[in-house]
Amino acid sequence: MNIVLFGPPGAGKGTQAARLKEKYGLAHLATGDMLRAAVAAGTELGRKVEKIMERGELVPDEMVVALIAERIEQPDCEKGFILDGFPRTLAQAEALDRMLAEHGKRIDAVIEIRVDDDRLIDRIRRRIAESGGARSDDNEETLKTRLEVYHRQTAPLLPYYRQRGVLYTVDGMQPIDEVTRQIEAILDRLR
Ligand code: AMP
Repeated sequence: MNIVLFGPPGAGKGTQAARLKEKYGLAHLATGDMLRAAVAAGTELGRKVEKIMERGELVPDEMVVALIAERIEQPDCEKGFILDGFPRTLAQAEALDRMLAEHGKRIDAVIEIRVDDDRLIDRIRRRIAESGGARSDDNEETLKTRLEVYHRQTAPLLPYYRQRGVLYTVDGMQPIDEVTRQIEAILDRLR
């Protein structure tokens, strides 16, 4: 089972992915985490993306597509994976479909975790306060950019997946456990 967790920054994709990974034995593939690791390690990729990430903009498609292409070949992805933060553009979604098709695979479900912008701003403010600014892109100005980028470049993927009959939406403003329960109900029907 290969799934995409879809939603704006702060929707709870990472939290839900960690739970689903445990329950279903899926690999958790988060491009944001991979890119932050590259920045921390000071690799060539890391140096290229650092400033872009700090501004809250998207890094070039070919860079994240290359990361995912390599990652889905790893043995822990054989049983399936959860994509978190990828795809974020139509070009990424199309590249993903192509590379999965090459392996005789597909995306079984795209779970949209829907949260209003006002609520996201409150959440990220709290995350900044709690983490003491551990993430250099967790600040209000960058968040505004990240939300705009989400609405302009990423949300247009929803009709793409709706047309393919794989889109499911859950209300991400409910308590975390309830969001998990609803996602699990969707995935249990698919298994
Ligand atoms: P995230 O942790 O998913 O919020 O990602 C943090 C930052 O990494 C984003 O604001 C982008 O700069 C970059 N990033 C992560 N995933 C992608 C992606 N699929 N496409 C382009 N940029 C990405």
